[in-house]
Amino acid sequence: MDDCIFCKIIKGEIPSKKVFEDKDIVAFNDINPKAPVHVLVVPKKHIESLANVDAANKDLLGKLLIAVSEIARKTNVDKSGYKVVANNGEGAGQLVLHLHFHILGGWMSKPHWQV
Ligand code: 5GP
Ligand code: ZN
Repeated sequence: MDDCIFCKIIKGEIPSKKVFEDKDIVAFNDINPKAPVHVLVVPKKHIESLANVDAANKDLLGKLLIAVSEIARKTNVDKSGYKVVANNGEGAGQLVLHLHFHILGGWMSKPHWQV
């Protein structure tokens, strides 16, 4: 999608701090972190939200959740705990209309951040 920020990040047209990439998925630090660790896990395929998936996307959805688990380990929030959030639709606060999972964690090491 030409006007999609995450498609531009995937194509390298907008810089990002990548923490994970494979052929289907990219993950990068959120530009405006709401937690000490705040990573966005994004499929390279432009899908608007979970409201737009069905059984045809089951392999990709499985890979996304496995990537979430791996990235949580890689960013050292797996033991201290983390949230996984997907906002679906503008009414739920989705600002970027390209499916993504937020990984939020790291509060134990930076207790001044509110959970
Ligand atoms: P949403 O509200 O759609 O669930 O979340 C979108 C997230 O994308 C927000 O947390 C926002 O800070 C992040 N974001 C928006 N634009 C950019 C960008 O250009 N680069 C990065 N790294 N994150 C972005
Ligand atoms: Zn997109």
